[in-house]
Amino acid sequence: MPKPLPQRPLRPATLLVRGGTTRSEHDETSEALFLTSGFVYDSAAQAEGTFAGTERHYQYSRFGNPTVAMLEARLAALEGAEACRMTATGMAAVHAALMAQLRAGDRVVASRALFGSCHWIVSTLLPRYGIESVFVDGADLAQWERALARPAALVLLETPSNPMLELVDLPAVAEMARRAGALVVVDNVFATPLLQRPLELGADVVVYSCTKHMDGQGRVLGGAVLGRARWVEEVLQPFIRNTGPSISPFNAWVILKGLETLALRVPAMCRSAAAIADFLAGRPEVSRVLYPFRPDHPQHALARRLMADGGTLVTFDLAGGKEAAFRFCDALRLIDISNNLGDAKSLVTHPATTTHMRIGAEERARLGIADGTIRLSVGLEDTHDLIEDLAAALDGLARRRA
Ligand SMILES: *Cc1c(COP(=O)(O)O)cnc(C)c1O
Repeated sequence: MPKPLPQRPLRPATLLVRGGTTRSEHDETSEALFLTSGFVYDSAAQAEGTFAGTERHYQYSRFGNPTVAMLEARLAALEGAEACRMTATGMAAVHAALMAQLRAGDRVVASRALFGSCHWIVSTLLPRYGIESVFVDGADLAQWERALARPAALVLLETPSNPMLELVDLPAVAEMARRAGALVVVDNVFATPLLQRPLELGADVVVYSCTKHMDGQGRVLGGAVLGRARWVEEVLQPFIRNTGPSISPFNAWVILKGLETLALRVPAMCRSAAAIADFLAGRPEVSRVLYPFRPDHPQHALARRLMADGGTLVTFDLAGGKEAAFRFCDALRLIDISNNLGDAKSLVTHPATTTHMRIGAEERARLGIADGTIRLSVGLEDTHDLIEDLAAALDGLARRRA
């Protein structure tokens, strides 16, 4: 067994390396990978006791696994949550959090600017089961107020949002949700647990796609749901146990090792993103730059209040629309075209034709996603090399116009 951690509060970088670690009888340094589907019992009586809940023993990796449990404990410690359950993907985490909680006849209020598949669950899947869904503009508190004037079972929001980096005043919305009787679920993928602490801002449940910054090296999918112990054990765990969105222990192990460097990677990516946002704002080919910690972001003051840094994504509009956006993406030599984010490799996305194609032109217009909008996920390459890559691609647009 590892020495118990000191009782005094530990800082995030320490928790990311040490939190949740347990050791087998071999006293290994690195977290062990228990790549096993099941577990054996010393006796039939132990099996009986385990199923009856009078003995603590692993049963089956759909319900629990020692490698997965280390990751759950590490994330819970980092988030300041009482409990955590891992899932196979971020979408499985969102789906489990919602379906475990909701019943026919319930009402869900969500911000419109949601990750595409989260939007689909709320707009298309939930109504099939008799759950009413209401969308609001997340930045408009008056709309939240109107929607939450009636009782609601659950509020789902993402802040900052994908891809327009729009913020929600979480403390204000959480207070309205509390009065409406709603459980507040926050998708905190864009901010990461290092930059924003939703539970302290009024959320009840936080969900993550660990596929993004937590793995951070583009290898595996994973998801996490964090909240109060009672809710996790009594509401979420039966849903996960019986429906099986469980993560592979191998993927959990990769994410555990990814977390060890999260506190180095995210600040470095934020520094680079801020510099790149400033660079882009000075270019004539760019008509608008969105970065939460730039003073020209429409919700800059709110961003400074909710977040510790501006994040690892920059969204910007090219004046020349889709044609310019495609030529710009194709001209990049270092930065890859991909729809993932939070990776060590910088990645560029054209939301209107990829991640946000299915929502249709009208909904895109509502969200402010233009044909010239580009989302850039800033990685860990040297900032100067990234800026040179962006500059060369923008120069190409300028030459074409001249
Ligand atoms: C990627 C993402 C998800 C979904 O996560 P997967 O691991 O791809 O299933 C959900 N919400 C946000 C904000 C995301 O960026």
